Amino acid sequence: MAQVIGIDLGATNACVAVMKDRTPAVIANAEGYSITPCVVAYGRNGDRLVGQIAKRQALMNPDNTFHSVKRFIGRKYDEVIDAAEQVSYQVLPDSNGGVKLNCPILDQEFTPEEITAQILRKLADTANKYLGEEVTQVVLTVPPYFNDSQRQATKDAGKLAGLEVLRIINQPTAACLVYELERRSNETILVFDLGGSTLDVTILDVGDGVFEVLATSSEPYLGGNDFDKKIVDWLAAEFQRIEGIDLRNDKQALQRLTEAAEKAKIELSSVTQAEINLPFITATQDGPKHIDTTLTVTQFEKMCSELIERCRIQIENAIRDARIDKSAIDEVVLVGGSTRIPAVKEFVRSLTGKEPYQSINPDEVGSVGAAIQASVLGDGWTSFCCVSWDYTYLSLGIETLDGAMTTMIPRHSIIPTKKSEIFSTATDGQTSIEIHVLQGERLFAKDNKSLGTLRLNGIFPAPKGVPQIEVTFEIDANGILTVSAKDIATEQERSLTINSLFVEQKELEQMLKDAEKYYQEDIKLSEPIEARKMAASLVVQTERQLTELGKKASEADKIWIEELLKNLRETIAKPDSANDSLAVLALGGKLLSNKTQPVLMQMGSPIYALTGAPKTGN
Ligand code: ADP
Ligand code: MG
Repeated sequence: MAQVIGIDLGATNACVAVMKDRTPAVIANAEGYSITPCVVAYGRNGDRLVGQIAKRQALMNPDNTFHSVKRFIGRKYDEVIDAAEQVSYQVLPDSNGGVKLNCPILDQEFTPEEITAQILRKLADTANKYLGEEVTQVVLTVPPYFNDSQRQATKDAGKLAGLEVLRIINQPTAACLVYELERRSNETILVFDLGGSTLDVTILDVGDGVFEVLATSSEPYLGGNDFDKKIVDWLAAEFQRIEGIDLRNDKQALQRLTEAAEKAKIELSSVTQAEINLPFITATQDGPKHIDTTLTVTQFEKMCSELIERCRIQIENAIRDARIDKSAIDEVVLVGGSTRIPAVKEFVRSLTGKEPYQSINPDEVGSVGAAIQASVLGDGWTSFCCVSWDYTYLSLGIETLDGAMTTMIPRHSIIPTKKSEIFSTATDGQTSIEIHVLQGERLFAKDNKSLGTLRLNGIFPAPKGVPQIEVTFEIDANGILTVSAKDIATEQERSLTINSLFVEQKELEQMLKDAEKYYQEDIKLSEPIEARKMAASLVVQTERQLTELGKKASEADKIWIEELLKNLRETIAKPDSANDSLAVLALGGKLLSNKTQPVLMQMGSPIYALTGAPKTGN
């Protein structure tokens, strides 16, 4: 079977891995590095540069060098105006309110998906070479807070790169998968991911292969680049003090300073001092000038203490949002290249009181997690078959009689999932129904979030309750919901796809809070409706049994059952019957009583199947 690869797509770097003989292998690119910078540039002759080579010329060719494109993928222009100011290239709105990236050297505009596709293509080529076969399927990672549109756009980028994206997984989930590979138990894990330009802290409950994100807290502009910049500023300030020249105004010098700063920073993760040597950094009337200096770990930590301190807020926010006590964290997992900085590691250790878990390079762990997921999907690696990846955060259902919501997929269901139920019409001769798709925990449709409406026409006219409409809710592995409705008799079918089950954290919290707050009130209001719904379904079932199988019952029995039915029908039909639940329940109860049931049972199969009735749609 063809191999499925895993790609961790970071804002700064990407990394590709594959499972070989059940062992993860991180694949080095053509330049020999396991990490490929997510940078695409266009040069003077229109030639395209991807990865390290593009990063190396970034500051000299800022307008045509696309970095941090992840900030724009799947976003509306309005949402990224601030982020657009942080990059060196021009970000423009497209005609649909989306984002395009201007490339002046080619006099052309690109979508963020097109640029991302170039990076994915390079990584896939890397994998092809390593595996000696063409790779066509991939698992990609995204940050946990990516919404559906960002996820979809990431998938589209894969498609543009000629790859089938089998699944998109959350970055912290990928890290936990690696962790899970080595130990399996029920635990609360804090994933601290400090990459090149972002910090994401995620708290997950992990157990039996199920990963539930309890909270995530991010700082979009805090990462390794900021540490580099501290060193650049220090070098430039020193140089200016001695030579009176600000090197930051010289693009070429700045490029070299930035590279030297990152190199020194990385060295300081393993040694106590780094030499910074930049000959011919500039020239004055006195001749060429050089930088030749030493940076110690102590100096570096001092200049970066403010950055490290900023990590505190996100850790504390995540713990607070997860509504757990710090002591409930069983394990701390470090992800992202910048967690190799000893001072960062130490800070996380002292703040959480836990020795961080770090078995794989933190900048490779995401791709390894993606590769593990890929191997599950590719060859169905059985020991991981039970692994499921995400949950529904809210219940999903449809509006039924009297504005109530009937749940199809309860909250916290593991996805992918599928559920079908039979519904029927609410009035005689009804030929169309409208299915109002809802999300939320409140008992009434009006209090929940409306996701869309599906109408099914051409139902064969029949008495109410007779047509059988099969409603199916299916959520695929990427969280995309398809609702379909099928008239069993005519086989007419319609469906609706909802790409957006995503709910912002704040909105989610509010919805859950409201559901709790109004629960008693809602229950009171819904009791009579429930009673009426049950009674209506009871009437339909009993009527059907009487017509189809009534021959088996005695005339006398039939007469009193019909009398009961008539009373119940009339009670339900009263406009205020929803309030008259006692009468409805009493009559329904009689139909279900010890006296009635044996007679009905004798007529045939069990009488009682609860079906809701979708609201009238004509
Ligand atoms: P992202 O997830 O944002 O794409 P990564 O996880 O690859 O990024 O992290 C990239 C950052 O990690 C860069 O700023 C890089 O300089 C930094 N980094 C990589 N290795 C080290 C190291 N040994 N010490 C300190 N920083 C490192
Ligand atoms: Mg990352």
